[in-house]
Amino acid sequence: MIDELPISEERISELQEHTRKDQQMQELKEVIQEGRPSNKWNVPSNVSIYFDIRDELTLQNGLLFKGERVIIPKSLRTDMIKKIHSSHIGIEGCLRRARESLYWPGMNAEVKDFIQRCETCRTFERKQQKETLISHEILSRPWSKVGIDLMTFQSKNYLVTVDYYSNYWEVDYLEDTLALTVIRKLRAQFARHGIPDVCFTDNGPQFDCGEFRKFSRLWEFKHDTSSPLYSQSNGKVEQAVQTVKRLMKKSKFDNKDPYLAFLDFRNTPTEGFDNSPAEKLMNRKTRTLLPTKESLLKPKVVAPNKVQIELTKEKQKQQFYYNQRTKDLPMLKNGDTVRIQPSNFNKEWKKGTIKQQISGKYCFRVSDFGSAEATTTGNK
Ligand SMILES: [Zn+2]
Repeated sequence: MIDELPISEERISELQEHTRKDQQMQELKEVIQEGRPSNKWNVPSNVSIYFDIRDELTLQNGLLFKGERVIIPKSLRTDMIKKIHSSHIGIEGCLRRARESLYWPGMNAEVKDFIQRCETCRTFERKQQKETLISHEILSRPWSKVGIDLMTFQSKNYLVTVDYYSNYWEVDYLEDTLALTVIRKLRAQFARHGIPDVCFTDNGPQFDCGEFRKFSRLWEFKHDTSSPLYSQSNGKVEQAVQTVKRLMKKSKFDNKDPYLAFLDFRNTPTEGFDNSPAEKLMNRKTRTLLPTKESLLKPKVVAPNKVQIELTKEKQKQQFYYNQRTKDLPMLKNGDTVRIQPSNFNKEWKKGTIKQQISGKYCFRVSDFGSAEATTTGNK
């Protein structure tokens, strides 16, 4: 089992060393070696906390396991929490990751407590997620529909390509924002993951042009664009852009490698799903810096019908919350003063006046919004 921990020799000896020096771990070892007691009162009080899971415990090469999860001795727990949270992924995500390969009693609470107090996370508190109104169809396999968008981070341009099925995204640095540059990056992505059936973009000049139309014809994919008036139907890619930016910001703040943050995110089971984006796209976890058993890294098919069920549930949930949220709020009418959440969450909310209802219940044209007009989907 120890050979199956694909971590450096150094890490393993560190774990063994700390396990050996830990009083509680030693007592637990003895209890396991002597055969598991059937009566709680025969267990030293120091390890009675492990009594209920005694049947799952094993001892291998000086390390203790609960099933496939390695038991971390006290002296290394803070280290491990830091490792789990090194990319500043949220509480639920960190817990989903930790539960896959690590164990100690009270781990969940300690992880939660640590993250709640994380300075970097507090500094970049996430803005409220925008809900998607227009639903995209449920997809049957990975990389059949991708959303593509450009983003700017610290005056550099990037291309974000997100798979609707797996929520796996790719980030490419753009030397410039010309159509041909964007297409060159996409060709590399499609050579890697295959050609999607459908590409969804906004109406930016890189996409609404002859070069892109030619690309779509030659590479035989359908090119869909969002409605020119409001881009909320591109929610999936907007969400991916927000995630990428948040991870990049936090890495920068911490002076860490953003690619390690990307790697962690891709291996974190998405909220509401059993599997991570990497698993849904590639049917395997990819190796990270977190100690993970070899067997957990072997390919394992993630059944498409299971993902579909989860995607459907996610959509229903979004719809449910959207409806709940809007029910409680009064309708907007012309002349109402509103404040609009900026797309860049460093900036202040802007004030405007409702000018006209565009379509549907929740789409309005707003004036006095800076210099230009804008549309809002909210009732804020
Ligand atoms: Zn954090």
